[in-house]
Amino acid sequence: MFKRILVANRGEIALRIFRACRELGIETVAIFSEADRGAAYLALADEAYCVGPPKAADSYLKIDRVISAAEIGNVQAIHPGYGFLAENAHFAEVCRSCNIEFIGPSHEAMQLLGDKNAARCLAKKAGVPTVPGSEGLVEGEAQAQRVAHEIGFPVLVKASAGGGGRGMRLALNDLALKSALQQARAEAGAAFGNADLYLEKYIARPRHVEVQILADHHGHTVHLFERDCTIQRRHQKLVEESPAPRLPEETRRAMCEAAVRLVRQADYTNAGTVEFIVDGQGDYFFIELNARIQVEHPVTEMVTGIDLIKAQILVAAGEPLPFGQEDVQHCGAAMECRINAEDPEHGCRPSPGVIQRLIVPGGFGVRFDSHVHAGYEVSPYYDSMIGKLIVHQPTRREAIACMRRSLAELRIDGLKTTTSLLMKILDHPDFIDGKVDTTFIERNWRT
Ligand code: ADP
Ligand code: ADP
Ligand code: MG
Repeated sequence: MFKRILVANRGEIALRIFRACRELGIETVAIFSEADRGAAYLALADEAYCVGPPKAADSYLKIDRVISAAEIGNVQAIHPGYGFLAENAHFAEVCRSCNIEFIGPSHEAMQLLGDKNAARCLAKKAGVPTVPGSEGLVEGEAQAQRVAHEIGFPVLVKASAGGGGRGMRLALNDLALKSALQQARAEAGAAFGNADLYLEKYIARPRHVEVQILADHHGHTVHLFERDCTIQRRHQKLVEESPAPRLPEETRRAMCEAAVRLVRQADYTNAGTVEFIVDGQGDYFFIELNARIQVEHPVTEMVTGIDLIKAQILVAAGEPLPFGQEDVQHCGAAMECRINAEDPEHGCRPSPGVIQRLIVPGGFGVRFDSHVHAGYEVSPYYDSMIGKLIVHQPTRREAIACMRRSLAELRIDGLKTTTSLLMKILDHPDFIDGKVDTTFIERNWRT
């Protein structure tokens, strides 16, 4: 087992990993940018090294500096968290060539699956349903038009390297397709350094359902059931839950089995998430595989009782998974709300600043994963998520009631947060009935 791990991340996920390591008896090395210097959560690591100025591109994303910190800290492994370098196959390869284990899949599997178009092709090979769309990349406008006419408008232009809801454009007709291609290509080139595009049919008012998987280096692959992440604003998740409401048991089983098939086909190891959209008829389609731990992983931890971060570390150290598929049981209903420092009254624009007062909810089945405290300054440099409120109850009805009372208890003074919007979502009859799709927020509120 590893003696020391470097956590190549910041904020709530860095803290989440420090905690898991402490419980496993593993020492931790933190990194921080000048903007995060002195942050209280860093004191929960055994050591911490500055890796550069506030901008992520100059610090958390600087592979040479992260590796230097790992060398100085004398670690055996690096946990990348989510975001930043988590899905950078080159970084994973560099880690291993420096004899430092990257806690995640092999760089070959990451490379393959990080390319959304290649992942789509692999899914087809594994007999997993994909969204109707282009066979491979679309090169020019003429080809895109041909595909669009075959599958029918509306179509979604997607960047093969896309992520975090970026590099995606909707087109309703030929004219719009032309500008969608241009915009998606420009955005993807700038954001990901890769302008490859493909086309998918735009599925009207779908639900987003994803399957958590874990695979070790001894040929064992298990799924940990599904999460429903349909409540999104501009393709960014806001509320996640398990089980997925109103998902027929047969569909759920088929999706979980499909996810395991795909992961086996890719020789994938460690934790991963297979994302699907489900249409109004209940048909499901693979959209992508996220080769990392996800923001919403606590939802799965609550309903299965399995600590996913610890499992990732054990698997990376070469241990077999300590449970088989039949040991993974789904118990009760869990729900997560992302608390973002954003102003829902003004288009959810970021609302950085100092937290003047913080009251954290507690009680039966309540978990708050966050690195913030009263006096903490939310910096404008990074993702606006400042915490995740998670509840676990016997039934969905009780989970909603628990989440509502927890959101009401939560007080964060000094800046704007998404709490008020989350409360409206939890109060909405369609949400309570589980009758939502990915357009639910935009149809109901001007955010
Ligand atoms: P999930 O929420 O399902 O874990 P997201 O796609 O929302 O996944 O991404 C999680 C974090 O990673 C977010 O902070 C997001 O901004 C960031 N992220 C996702 N994909 C990329 C990418 N390709 N490049 C940079 N950041 C990304
Ligand atoms: P990212 O890599 O940015 O996470 P995804 O391919 O996972 O991109 O899609 C993000 C979200 O966009 C999905 O959760 C879903 O809401 C929506 N979406 C993606 N593909 C489609 C599609 N073909 N039709 C309708 N909505 C889609
Ligand atoms: Mg996605």
